[in-house]
Amino acid sequence: MRRALYGVFWILIFLLLTLSPFFVMMVGAVRPGRGFWTELSVSLGFAGLAMMGLQFLLTARYRGMTSPYGIDVVYHFHRQISLVIIFMVLAHPLILFIDRPNTIEYLNIFTASWAARFGVFGLLSLAFVIFASLFRKQFRITYEPWRISHGIMGTLAIIFTRAHLVSVGYYADTAAKQMVWVVLHGGIWVGALLFVRVIKPLMMLRRPYKVDQVRPEKGNVYSLVLKPDGHKGMEFKPGQFVWLTIWNSPFSMKEHPFSFSSSAMVDGRYELAIKELGDFTSKVKTIKPGTKAYLDGPYGVFSMDYHHSPGYVFLAGGIGIGPIMSMLRTAKDRRDKRPLVLIYGSKNLDELTFHEEIDRLKGDLNLRVVYVLEDPPEGWEGETGYVTPELLARHLPENRLDLEYFICGPEPMIDAVENGLVRLGISLEQTQAERFNLV
Ligand SMILES: Cc1cc2nc3c(=O)[nH]c(=O)nc-3n(C[C@H](O)[C@H](O)[C@H](O)COP(=O)(O)OP(=O)(O)OC[C@H]3O[C@@H](n4cnc5c(N)ncnc54)[C@H](O)[C@@H]3O)c2cc1C
Repeated sequence: MRRALYGVFWILIFLLLTLSPFFVMMVGAVRPGRGFWTELSVSLGFAGLAMMGLQFLLTARYRGMTSPYGIDVVYHFHRQISLVIIFMVLAHPLILFIDRPNTIEYLNIFTASWAARFGVFGLLSLAFVIFASLFRKQFRITYEPWRISHGIMGTLAIIFTRAHLVSVGYYADTAAKQMVWVVLHGGIWVGALLFVRVIKPLMMLRRPYKVDQVRPEKGNVYSLVLKPDGHKGMEFKPGQFVWLTIWNSPFSMKEHPFSFSSSAMVDGRYELAIKELGDFTSKVKTIKPGTKAYLDGPYGVFSMDYHHSPGYVFLAGGIGIGPIMSMLRTAKDRRDKRPLVLIYGSKNLDELTFHEEIDRLKGDLNLRVVYVLEDPPEGWEGETGYVTPELLARHLPENRLDLEYFICGPEPMIDAVENGLVRLGISLEQTQAERFNLV
């Protein structure tokens, strides 16, 4: 209930801040209107600009704000709302060009006023940010350069569009009105930047961790074992994740998200199960014990602690088993006797990470396990192929409609399982999915 109220609170704050320029426009002496279409165009520009600044707040990973929804939902909102913003900001000049065709001359940056130039530069910077984000994978732009350009161009987009607004000055012609942009929206934007780039890294620097062990597991996975270095460490809920920085200072922003795979009941010892995939993850096996690391977190609501239920069904594919191991290990430490079902898909038996430990956990927990192998060994009597609705129907318990479902794995697997569950009458509210691609 408290979480839901916080959720509503942050939505109201977002709406209020988006609409705040309109309230301020109406305060004091109001300049004469310039016709419906011009006013509509200006309104869209104002709202778009207000939301652009709020985008920085959304990705500042401020826990008070992200915890009611889960950070993945907040990032998803950040992505979707950026399309609304570009629509509004593009509509602003387009409406003007149609309503007053002579304004098209503003596009000529060699002859146009500075006010118009700032507008064009702002629009181009914003278009770059959104285009690069939408098509990053298609253009094979790797994560690090994309992230740097995202930050720089996003900042430029804000600076240029604010300069445009102030230099046009129609509704922001008094010091009091400009203060709204400078103090309120500028303050939020600079505050979010300061929090992410300075305050948070400083806090992480004061609470370092040390690598205790790098343990190889099946399926090219390494369990990175970390211990707090000179402090008590952090508490987390089973299944949550952290951003890990290693070999770099927290100011470098070279960090990667990984889920805890260890039990939340063990103090001062944290495990992350990391699968070799790209530049960073392929080097995890070379990390030496004693290496300093920094953790930012915990984040996420992919945890049985946030979704109470008489029993749980876990559906894992590949390294998606990581956060689910955290929940199983925690359940064992808590002597949780609620019925659990694990349906775990993998390529073959050699890639079935934590397979032996899961088999042992069956003795400690009220746990039923179904392995699904794409490429089974000779004589395999278990399930084969993929997790289909038919397979789900065979293995889900009779009280399936009363349970909570946790899905983690490759995107196509999550989509297929979600669809399969819906076909079996399980509502999406009962289904929690952790997608390993926030960006
Ligand atoms: C919430 C969450 C939890 C995760 N938990 C685990 C886990 O427990 N175990 C595990 O092995 N993997 C996990 N991942 C995935 C892991 O973060 C990526 O595989 C890893 O960052 C890839 O880095 P790379 O340089 O090796 O690969 P690259 O080839 O550079 O990247 C592959 C893809 O991973 C994503 N990625 C790369 N760098 C980052 C970054 N710094 N931040 C965000 N995304 C990035 C991008 O979409 C990129 O296209 C998780 C991801 C998320 C979002």
